[in-house]
Amino acid sequence: MTETFDVLDPVDGAVLGQVPDLTAEEALTALDVAVQRQHSWATTPPRERGEILRRAFELVSERSDEFAETISLEMGKPLAEARGEVAYGAEFLRWFSEEAVRIRGSWLTAPAGGSRLLTVKKPVGPCLFITPWNFPLAMGTRKIGPALAAGCTALVKPASATPLTMFKLAEVFAEAGLPEGVLQVVTTRSTGEVTSALLADPRLRKISFTGSTAVGKELVRGSADNLQRVSMELGGNAPFLVFADADIDAAVDGAMIAKMRNMGEACTAANRFLVHADVAEEFTAKLAARMGGLRVGRGQEDGVDVGPLIDAHAVESVQQLVADAVAGGARLVVGGEPDGNFFPPTVLADVAPEARVVREEIFGPVAPISTFRTEQEAVDAANNTEYGLSAYLWTRDLDRTLRLVESLDFGMVGVNTGLVSNPAAPFGGVKASGFGREGGFEGIEEYLDTTYVGISAP
Ligand code: NAP
Repeated sequence: MTETFDVLDPVDGAVLGQVPDLTAEEALTALDVAVQRQHSWATTPPRERGEILRRAFELVSERSDEFAETISLEMGKPLAEARGEVAYGAEFLRWFSEEAVRIRGSWLTAPAGGSRLLTVKKPVGPCLFITPWNFPLAMGTRKIGPALAAGCTALVKPASATPLTMFKLAEVFAEAGLPEGVLQVVTTRSTGEVTSALLADPRLRKISFTGSTAVGKELVRGSADNLQRVSMELGGNAPFLVFADADIDAAVDGAMIAKMRNMGEACTAANRFLVHADVAEEFTAKLAARMGGLRVGRGQEDGVDVGPLIDAHAVESVQQLVADAVAGGARLVVGGEPDGNFFPPTVLADVAPEARVVREEIFGPVAPISTFRTEQEAVDAANNTEYGLSAYLWTRDLDRTLRLVESLDFGMVGVNTGLVSNPAAPFGGVKASGFGREGGFEGIEEYLDTTYVGISAP
C-alpha cells in the first residue's frame, strides 16, 4: 500500500492533510499511463482540448474562494493574495485554451525553386513538471495549460510543503472532462530519487522546472542522458531602479507590489532597491512608512497583509541576511525582528554592495536600499548578479528607458510598474535564472517539436 506524508500549517505545524508518498516504482507506473495516453490525447481535436481547458478555467474561477483557502492554509499567504493567485493561475488555462486551436506549421517555396518546404508542429510527448511552494496553483497552471493545449500528457510533482492545491486542480480537470491519466499528480518525499528514475526513462520527453537554481542545474544534468527537452524557471535577484526624475509616490506604490507581493517570497520580488542619491531619503522614508504600516498575522484572518514565511528555516535565513547587512554598516529603518515564523516588513538603508542581502535571493519581506549617482553606475550595479529574471525601472525619461531596456541583462523589465507577470506575456529569465518562457505566444512552443517536410515541386 502507498505510504502517505503530512502537509503542515506553516504557522504552527498543525496537520492539514495527507498525500501519497510515492516510490520511484510507483512514479514509473504513472509514467506508463502517461505514455499510453499520449497518442489519444495528441490526436484529440484541438478544439476539444481547448474546451476542456476552458471548462477548467471556469471551474477554478467559480471555486476561487475554495482554492484560495487551501493555498492560504498550506502556504500561509493572506486570503486576498491567494485569491489573486487563483485569478492569475486560472488565466493560464484560459489563455492556452485559446492557443490550442492556433498551433500551425508553414509552407515555403525553396529559394532555388524545385521543392516546397513544410513544417508541422507536434507535441513533444509525456512531460514532467516540478513546481515550488510559493505559488501552489499558478506555477502548475503555467505548465499544464500549454502542455495540454499542445497535446502532451503530464506528471506534475508539486512541492512537498504545498501539494493540496494541485490535487484540487486535478479534481477540477476530471470534472472538466480531461481523460483519466492525461494529467497525474505525483507526490513524494523521495523527490531526488523519484525524479532521477523518471529522467532515466527515455519515454519521458520533457521536463519543466520552477524552483531554485541549484536544483535546476541538477535536473539539467539529469536530463542529459536522454536529452529531454528542458525549461527552467529559476531564482532571481531583481534590481528596482529609481531615477531622480521618477514619480516617487508611484515608485513607492510599485515597490510595495514588487517587494511585498507574496511576502517577498517570489522569484520576481524586488531584491535590491537602487535609488538616485537625490531622492533616496524621500523614497526610503515613504517606503518605510508604508512597510511599517502593514499588518502581520495568520493569512486567514481579516485585514492581514503579511502572512508567515514558509518555515523556520526560511525565517532564520532571512534573519541572517539582515544581520549580515547591519554588521556591514546598513541602517535598520523599520522591522528586523521575527516572531515565530512571522517576519516583519523590513527596510534597510545604506546597504553595502558586498552585503549578502543584495547578492543572494532574499525570499522574504526585506527591502535593502543603496544609492547611485550616474545612469552607468545604476546599470552596472543592476547587472552585477548571476541572475537575470526581472528588473524594475522608474523614470519619466523615454530616452533613458530605451537605453536601459537594451542594457539590462534580464528576461523581463517592468517600466514604471511593480508587476510584470501576465499570462499573455512570455515569462522567463536569462543567465542563472534559466531558459524557456511560460505564457504569451511563446509558452506553447516549449511543448511543440517541429517536423520539416521537403516535397518535390508539382
Ligand atoms: P526548490 O527547493 O528548488 O524546490 C522546488 C521544487 O523542486 C519542489 O517541488 C521540490 O520538491 C523539488 N526538488 C527539490 N530537490 C529536488 C531534487 N534534488 N530533484 C528534483 N526536484 C527537487 O525551490 P523552492 O524553495 O521550493 O522555491 C523557491 C525557489 O523557486 C526560489 O529560488 C525562487 O526564485 C524559485 N522560483 C522561480 C520562479 C520562476 O518562475 N523563475 C517562480 C517561483 C519560484 P520537494 O518540495 O519535495 O523538496
